[in-house]
Amino acid sequence: MRTPIIAGNWKMFKTIAEAKAFAAEAKAGNNTSGVQKVICAPFTALAALTEALAGTDIAVGAQNMHFAEQGAYTGEVSASMLKEIGVEYVILGHSERRQYFNETDETVNQKVVAALAADLVPIVCVGESLEQREAGETANVVRTQTEGAFAGLTAEQVAKAIIAYEPIWAIGTGKSSTAEDANETIAIIRSVVAERFGQETAEAVRIQYGGSVKPENIASYMAQPDIDGALVGGASLAADSYLQLVAGA
Ligand code: PEP
Repeated sequence: MRTPIIAGNWKMFKTIAEAKAFAAEAKAGNNTSGVQKVICAPFTALAALTEALAGTDIAVGAQNMHFAEQGAYTGEVSASMLKEIGVEYVILGHSERRQYFNETDETVNQKVVAALAADLVPIVCVGESLEQREAGETANVVRTQTEGAFAGLTAEQVAKAIIAYEPIWAIGTGKSSTAEDANETIAIIRSVVAERFGQETAEAVRIQYGGSVKPENIASYMAQPDIDGALVGGASLAADSYLQLVAGA
């Protein structure tokens, strides 16, 4: 049995004050068990958020990190710096980072290695563009990204990671994938993990769907056998909406 995980991705939203207000509301209404809860906040709000959520079962994640331990990388943050302030998860390879910040399968791989070495759980994003989907390339794209992200890792390491299947055309657009289509692609990703790292690892690794998930549609995704939760942008910004997503999982 894989524990479902609902991760919020706040992207570049929320000041420290807003993050604290979210935490107070989320703490007050947090009464669902059996679901792993994570909020991925901007760097500036992470320390305040880990403090505000201390003692709860809501973990905190970052949205990116550098692969080096330290060094002359102006503007970057390392895995151990995140660890030091209580961060437990990190989103890696989000399509917005691939699109706007030149993230590649190689840099995602380096970051996954560094995150795991620092005992951070990577949430590795894969997914095709609309153009790639229409050209029938979805399976190839997610295969290449999954193999790239986990190159050189052991089965044990891969089992600790989380994969988020996020079709780019569904992110922030209101056009969610059907639950059946999302499940089909997630089953492909799981079969790639099985081929490379064995059946046991494929059965253990959790794979989320992401792309316009809302309280109204979360149940349809969770009803699918291969979908283990969701990575949620817009609908994770309000505490009541995030808690409804968790309850729906
Ligand atoms: C995301 O940011 O990863 C995402 C899936 O966004 P949204 O839920 O807003 O589509």
